[in-house]
Formats: sequence, C-alpha cells, structure tokens
Amino acid sequence: MATLEIKDLHADVVTDEGNKPILTGVNLTIRSGETHAIMGPNGSGKSTLSYAIAGHPKYEVTSGEVLLDGENVLEMSVDERARAGLFLAMQYPVEVPGVSMSNFLRSAATAVRGEAPKLRHWVKEVKDEMAQLEISSEFAERSVNEGFSGGEKKRHEILQMALLKPKFAVLDETDSGLDVDALRVVSEAVNEYKSGNEVGVMLITHYTRILKHIEPDFVHVFAGGKVVESGGKELADELEANGYVKYTTAEAAV
Ligand code: ADP
Ligand code: MG
Ligand code: MG
Repeated sequence: MATLEIKDLHADVVTDEGNKPILTGVNLTIRSGETHAIMGPNGSGKSTLSYAIAGHPKYEVTSGEVLLDGENVLEMSVDERARAGLFLAMQYPVEVPGVSMSNFLRSAATAVRGEAPKLRHWVKEVKDEMAQLEISSEFAERSVNEGFSGGEKKRHEILQMALLKPKFAVLDETDSGLDVDALRVVSEAVNEYKSGNEVGVMLITHYTRILKHIEPDFVHVFAGGKVVESGGKELADELEANGYVKYTTAEAAV
C-alpha cells in the first residue's frame, strides 16, 4: 500500500504583481485504494493544490510537505513525480501543437515505465482504452489537445491515466464540460481503473454530480486554502443541500 501525505502545505501563486498566498495549511493523507473528494467554492485554492503537488512553476510552496511513501515529492522534478506514481490531470490541459496523441502517450509511458512499451502490445493497449472511452481512432494522429472540446480533453486525461497506471491520481474538475453521456463514459473508465489497480484518487470537484458515478470514501470541504471539514460521502449530500455558505462566512469572519 502506498501513502500520499500532505502536511501543513502553504503555497503562493506567482503573479506579475508578486506572490499571493493561496494555500494556508493543507493537511490530507490519501492511501492507495481510497478515493477522496475535495469540494469547495470557486477560488478556494483547489486547483492551486493540484498545481502545487504537480510542481507547476507558477506556484511556489512556501512551507509544508508532500510525501509519497515518505519521499519528498516537492524535491522531485516533474518527470520524477510521474515516475514515482503521481498523475495530475489539470483543470485546463495544455495544447501541444505538432505532437500527435500517439507519440505523446508513448513518450509519457516510456518516461514513466523506464522503457519503451513493446509496440505490438502498446498499440492494442491504446486501442482498447480508446474504445472504452469512446474516443475515435482518428484522435491518435491529432495534436495533443489542439482544438479538442472540453469533453474531449477530459476523456484524453483519463486515457492517459489508464495508460500510465499511477499510484495516485489527482483529477481536477474532470466532470466540467462533460454532458451526461460523457460523464458516464469517463466515470466508468475511472471506476474500471480503480477496480483493477491499487490507486489513490483525489477527485477535485465543485459539484456533487460526479460523485454519483465515482463513489468517494472520504469527502473534504476546502475553503480559504485548506481543508476545513472531512467526513464520509454523506458530507457531499449535505453540501448539495446547503452549499458552501457555512464555510465561506466562517472564513469571512476570521
Ligand atoms: P479553485 O480551483 O478552488 O477555484 P484556484 O486554485 O484556481 O481555486 O484559485 C485560488 C485563488 O488563486 C483565486 O483567488 C485565484 O484568482 C487565484 N489565482 C490562481 N491562479 C492565479 C494566477 N495565475 N494569477 C493570479 N491569481 C491566481
Ligand atoms: Mg479549480
Ligand atoms: Mg480499461
């Protein structure tokens, strides 16, 4: 079993006007096999948390730790993080003109696995996963994310996850921009990956609807740059009914 520990994490966003503190002491432990939903109002720092874990250059960790089985993730290069078993699906995936999906996926798999996947197996693996995610085969030759719709980008993120086989996956608003059918297809692929692999999932979401498809073991409320409450999946129902008002007013009063 693997463990991802986030301890008292503070981080700034780096802007032209200087640094702006966003994360104010995040504490969270995720074990492989568990799914944790992170829910919170817009602007509370959920994406910043995923960027900080990913090592995005626009986000600066000022104190605290992120440990994967005791290893300091924050000292690792972005490639090392991927090799260590972290997968980070971004809320706004980048476009890479001129690089085909199939080349991109094969290089990513080579980097993560430490050797190039055997071509015959690889082609079948990619084909099977694409079929499951209902991604048409023409996408293999298209440039990474270029001109993809929001829903197509999300499907490709999950395709990457299924192929890279991480120990921990941070999925940031995987449900945004998906219609009901796409949400079902994407959720089924995540669930299948979860059932076949010991993976810890951090599912960042604003809405409860994806949690009807991907069942969380734990739900955390994120407000003002940190986890302010944790519970089981019943907490999501409570949030659905009452919104985040309770947490944002408490924060405003501080
Ligand atoms: P969430 O994902 O919970 O909606 P974010 O992490 O995206 O929240 O944003 C947290 C706060 O950081 C917001 O107030 C947002 O405006 C600010 N922020 C995030 N990225 C930047 C940036 N690149 N420049 C300036 N402010 C930013
Ligand atoms: Mg966000
Ligand atoms: Mg599959």
